[in-house]
Amino acid sequence: MLAMEAHEIHSIIVLLREEYRTWQTPAVTIISQCDHSPFKVLISCIISLRTKDEVTATASARLFARAGTAESMQYVTADEIAGLIYPAGFYRNKARQIREIAQRLVADYGGNVPDSIEELLRFNGVGRKTANLVVTLGFGQPGICVDTHVHRICNRLGYVSTKTPQDTEMVLRAKLPPEYWIEINDLLVAFGQNHCFPQSPRCTICRISSFCPRIGVERFR
Ligand code: SF4
Repeated sequence: MLAMEAHEIHSIIVLLREEYRTWQTPAVTIISQCDHSPFKVLISCIISLRTKDEVTATASARLFARAGTAESMQYVTADEIAGLIYPAGFYRNKARQIREIAQRLVADYGGNVPDSIEELLRFNGVGRKTANLVVTLGFGQPGICVDTHVHRICNRLGYVSTKTPQDTEMVLRAKLPPEYWIEINDLLVAFGQNHCFPQSPRCTICRISSFCPRIGVERFR
C-alpha cells in the first residue's frame, strides 16, 4: 500500500478538526483549559498514564480539590494521594511520584513548573510524552506530544514509519508543519479514543479513509 503524501496532512487536519467537535475532549486538555496551571497539567498527565480518561478526570478533580499547587501538595502524604487518585493505574507509584515532584518543585524551582522538556525529564515519573504535554498545554510553547494514539495513527496513515513513540516524535518534529504541533495530540488522541481504535478501527465510516492506506490494520469495521 502507498503511504500518504506529505501535503495531504493539511486536508486531514481540516477534517479531523470538524470531527473533533463531536468527540469528548481529552481530560488533560480540559484541565489545562479550565485552570491554565502547568502544575495541574503535569500532575493530571501523570495520573492519565495507563488510565481511562474518565478515571483521570475524576481522580484529578479529587486530588486538586485537596491540593492544587506544589506548595500544598508537598504536605499531602503519599497514602492520601493514592486514596484520592484510586483507581488510576499504578496509583501507589504515581502517588509517591506526585509527592516527590511537588517537594522538588518547591525546593528547587520556587514552586513553579519548569517550561523546558530537558528540565522536566529530570523528574522521576516524567517521560517525553508528559514533558511535551506540559510544554504545549501548560505553557503554549512548541512541542509534539506523542502517545500511543498519535504513534499508532501516524503509522497507519503512513505519515511515519516508526517503531516507538519517541521515534514518531522525532519524525514529526522534522516533517509536521509547526502550526499543527500543539493540536496534533488533541486531534489524534480524541480520534483514537472515538474512532481509529487500536483494535478494529471504524474504517468504513472514516472521514479520512481516502488518505489512509491502513498500514498494519488487519481487522476493521
Ligand atoms: Fe484509522 Fe481506518 Fe480511518 Fe485509517 S481509515 S485513519 S485506520 S479509522
